[in-house]
Amino acid sequence: MNEQLEALLSQIIHPETGQNILDSGFVERAELGAEGDIAVTLRFQKARDPFAQKIKKQVEATIEAAFPEARCMVIIREAAPKPRRREQESSTTNICRIIAVASGKGGVGKSTVTANLAVALRQRGYNVGILDADIYGPSQTKMFGVEGFIPEAERDEAGNEYIIPAQSLGIKLMSIGFFIRPTDALMWRGGMAVNALHQLIHQTKWGALDYLLIDLPPGTGDIHLSLINELKLSGAVIVSTPQGVAVTDVVRGVEMFRHEQVNVPVLGVVENMAWFTPEELPNNRYYIFGQGGAKRYAEEAGIDLLGQVPIIQSIMEGSEQGRPAAGIDSRVEEFYSDIAEKVVEKLPTEC
Ligand code: ADP
Repeated sequence: MNEQLEALLSQIIHPETGQNILDSGFVERAELGAEGDIAVTLRFQKARDPFAQKIKKQVEATIEAAFPEARCMVIIREAAPKPRRREQESSTTNICRIIAVASGKGGVGKSTVTANLAVALRQRGYNVGILDADIYGPSQTKMFGVEGFIPEAERDEAGNEYIIPAQSLGIKLMSIGFFIRPTDALMWRGGMAVNALHQLIHQTKWGALDYLLIDLPPGTGDIHLSLINELKLSGAVIVSTPQGVAVTDVVRGVEMFRHEQVNVPVLGVVENMAWFTPEELPNNRYYIFGQGGAKRYAEEAGIDLLGQVPIIQSIMEGSEQGRPAAGIDSRVEEFYSDIAEKVVEKLPTEC
């Protein structure tokens, strides 16, 4: 192996082993090609190493800084999963209720609703966690201002490994966004995404939670079915905007949860961006995306309308600034407090 490359790679520490990646045996190959190309192959000892992507990024950045002219390619290989001696106990055992927040398509405000609902539940005194499983656009880290958080792993006396979640506003947060770059998601095969999410669900040190909200990817594909089947979901909240196309997607989402092999209670629909009221005309409502489509659909499908949330500037700003608006704007707090109340009422009080 090229000495300079060796020196560079020995600066990168694997957070779990505490050793550099060379000494940990993770560097299978590191070569300087004839044309100045640099190829590095990292082989991790366990399948689905949660730090693989982070280390790949570090290797790329370190090599690019030292060889700005070179083209650097880092490949990750994983060891075949070893049969485990015993199944690690899932860290979800002390979670009382798990709620999926879903939407038929992206951009309707699913993540915004998840974040604000979590804040509203926390304001009622519950212990709340969020798992951001939206591999196509993980945004909870930004909404809670913990974008740079690097999860650490911890091992208990029995040898079980746990990942420590971020905490913000009293809410525990684990996100697939801590481990992947947005551009990676497009390359993820369904199985890979499901495996990574499986690990985040069962190995995050959630502790005792009253509610865990799962921000699902938009749509109704294989990833959804695998996730839903693997979690004992207490219920699902569906988010939609009022217009026809969005509502058609809701129908598909509801059918997925109601499918006999899935059978998860749909707690109701949140109609987001239901209208807009300018500050200077507080009595006017402008139905920018149509009026009440999701509300009507909910009535027809026999599903409850959990709430209608208008377009409010502070909602968008709160998400950008890392503090969901339900915690800072009393108008938004009111809308979400009602939604939280309905959600709480719909689930059994006992765990
Ligand atoms: P999704 O998770 O469905 O893709 P997001 O929650 O990311 O959608 O929301 C998309 C955009 O719309 C974000 O910029 C968000 O801040 C904004 N947004 C969502 N709901 C509202 C609302 N009620 N009022 C104002 N902006 C909103």
